[in-house]
Amino acid sequence: MAKRLSGKEVAAALNEKTRAKAAELNEKGIKPTLGIIRVGENKSDLSYEKGITNCCQFLTIECEKLVLPADASQDELLAAVEKMNRADHIHGVLLFRPLPKHLQQNQAMIENALLSSKDVDGMTDISMSSVFTGKTEGFPPCTPQACMEILDYYGIDCKGKKAVVVGRSLVTGKPVAMMLLRRDATVTICHTKTEDMASLVRAADIVIAAVGRAGILDDTYFSPGQVVIDVGINVDKEGKLCGDVDYAKAEPIVGAITPVPGGVGGVTTSVLVSHVAEAALKNCKKGR
Ligand code: NAP
Repeated sequence: MAKRLSGKEVAAALNEKTRAKAAELNEKGIKPTLGIIRVGENKSDLSYEKGITNCCQFLTIECEKLVLPADASQDELLAAVEKMNRADHIHGVLLFRPLPKHLQQNQAMIENALLSSKDVDGMTDISMSSVFTGKTEGFPPCTPQACMEILDYYGIDCKGKKAVVVGRSLVTGKPVAMMLLRRDATVTICHTKTEDMASLVRAADIVIAAVGRAGILDDTYFSPGQVVIDVGINVDKEGKLCGDVDYAKAEPIVGAITPVPGGVGGVTTSVLVSHVAEAALKNCKKGR
């Protein structure tokens, strides 16, 4: 039976650190504050927003929302980003993505309009380049960092290990691969054109699944002793939330595995909120 890597435990430990940072800031009269920009009333945005605002409230981090109508223009959205940039009391900003279709054409330009010092979701080019160069400008994207938080919390050493990442998206697969490389793992990235993916995954010590296909990784992909981090958030045929890994088939084989729900998702929220406290601390150290 595999060890269950509980995202709840990891999030709780991270939340304690964030609470301590928030208390340190509060003593100095600073209220760490997250600005949220949402366009429209997309269901999954609303559900993520609820998780984030609850987590912020729990950790005494303030939240300020700026909600635009679903048909908001590019200029209106850019004005909202600029407003957040200029507001000294806002330390970090979350812009819900994907944006509505009519705003997607220039999504990269809109994302990069945000100051990297407030980019707590790691969406700007500056934040992303830091993941690759090891610089500390901006913030790493939250989900890849959540995977690292889980590995660290459970004392899983990546040095010299074979790691396979399934998925090569810019938001998940690529940055998570870079983070594993930084921890001295030997990293293979799989995607739709990968041949004999099952044998590559089976040979890994650490598997990160970031595919977006319900239960695509079944028992043929796994071998004893592996650590499996399932980033996927999908809905199965019965309408239940599930990962990219077929948990029932993988769990009896591998050494350790994250569940879905109860794994990476909750840690991602805690990482985002921790970034707000960090952004406020950095700002405070700059004497602003
Ligand atoms: P994405 O942008 O759609 O990328 C999916 C990647 O998986 C692509 O690189 C694609 O390869 C690869 N892929 C798709 N089908 C495959 C297959 N049959 N065999 C091998 N590779 C395949 O997805 P994403 O944004 O990275 O998200 C991945 C999953 O993570 C989704 O379920 C999403 O909901 C979830 N997610 C969770 C969190 C969290 O906090 N837990 C946060 C973000 C995303 P190609 O490049 O060749 O097309």
